[in-house]
Amino acid sequence: MTPSSTTVSRIYNLECSRCGTPHSAFALQRVSECCALPLVATYDLSEPLSRQSINTSDGTMWRYQELLPLLDEENRVSLGEGFTPLLHLRGLANRYDLAWLQLKDEGQNPTGSFKARGLSMAISKAKELGVSGCIIPTAGNAGVAMAAYCAKAGMRAVVAMPRHTPNAFKEECYWYGAEVQLIDGLINDCAAWVRETNAHGELLDVSTLKEPYRLEGKKTMGYEIAEQLNWQLPDVILYPAGGGTGLIGIWKAFQEMKALGWLSADIRLPRMVAVQAANCCPLIETYTGRQANAHHYVGKPTIANGLAVPRPLGEQMMLQVLQESRGTAVSITDAEMIEGMRELGRLEGLFVAPEGAAVWMAARKLLNTGWLAADEKILLLNTGSGQKYMDNVAGQY
Ligand SMILES: *Cc1c(COP(=O)(O)O)cnc(C)c1O
Ligand SMILES: [Zn+2]
Repeated sequence: MTPSSTTVSRIYNLECSRCGTPHSAFALQRVSECCALPLVATYDLSEPLSRQSINTSDGTMWRYQELLPLLDEENRVSLGEGFTPLLHLRGLANRYDLAWLQLKDEGQNPTGSFKARGLSMAISKAKELGVSGCIIPTAGNAGVAMAAYCAKAGMRAVVAMPRHTPNAFKEECYWYGAEVQLIDGLINDCAAWVRETNAHGELLDVSTLKEPYRLEGKKTMGYEIAEQLNWQLPDVILYPAGGGTGLIGIWKAFQEMKALGWLSADIRLPRMVAVQAANCCPLIETYTGRQANAHHYVGKPTIANGLAVPRPLGEQMMLQVLQESRGTAVSITDAEMIEGMRELGRLEGLFVAPEGAAVWMAARKLLNTGWLAADEKILLLNTGSGQKYMDNVAGQY
């Protein structure tokens, strides 16, 4: 396929995240052929593109369509994802004496999590490239989002999730007509089942970073943060990292916006903090030198299902973001997440996912150690709604 005359997308090609080998952006791709690692989309920015190109009448992530990979708008599979609000957390800021504390509430996305962004993009591209069905190993939210967007696109959906996943995730997949396989184990065990079941590749595997476009959906969070803050950026962004697409995507958006001239050339980019669950924190183990990499890391279940990713394919990409941004990595226990959910509920009226609560507790931890100062601009990402986690948290208010 070549770009049609109606396209506005500036998509140029796909590059191997390790060695840069180019791959066509106009054919179906999975991981790179050279290194079997994630492919990263690049855009032709040789013609100037101003901030006026943002379609501000579109209240979804698709307002940045020039900087997204879809060629033909006809193929867009949308449920209204993105452009979620930035909320001032005045109750918490007052209690902890903080100058500037905001939260981007991704729980307000379709299907209740920011997975909607990535799957809207991946399923739209799958439709554009003639795919008839998709398969995914998931800790919960990604499977729900894939099932919803496949339903909207008229595609077959196969979802593999851990048996211990809260019921609401399973139910929602069934309501969207997906085929659901329950697996004893974590997401890496689901991934093994997917590899076996889909050995001949008749379904498109939309696992985190195993196709190039979920990352492009997730990066829109970075564009939105900049636009919503009038092209200024916070000092620190805290993000709950599982597979890492959000962390990598937000950082990618900042680089693109610098190249576009949408951010001032001398802007100080935020320090990026990866927050993980103490029960499954491969990134922290590598970051602190307790292991060379996560290839053999064994994780345990956590109430933050989205963080139970023991061997993320994008580990090196995440570590690079932490290094380039002078960020850090922090782990939070399940008990601390419950405490964070209580505070966000009582002081802010927000019923956040345990992943979002972990991010707030990480901010508290970093304030205590002095890594974070009370007068800094602190942005928290709440990646999902608490409602689906009822089996994990009921009664613990
Ligand atoms: C998937 C998920 C995460 C982790 O996101 P990655 O992009 O895989 O790092 C965090 N929070 C929630 C609620 C999730 O569903
Ligand atoms: Zn390569």
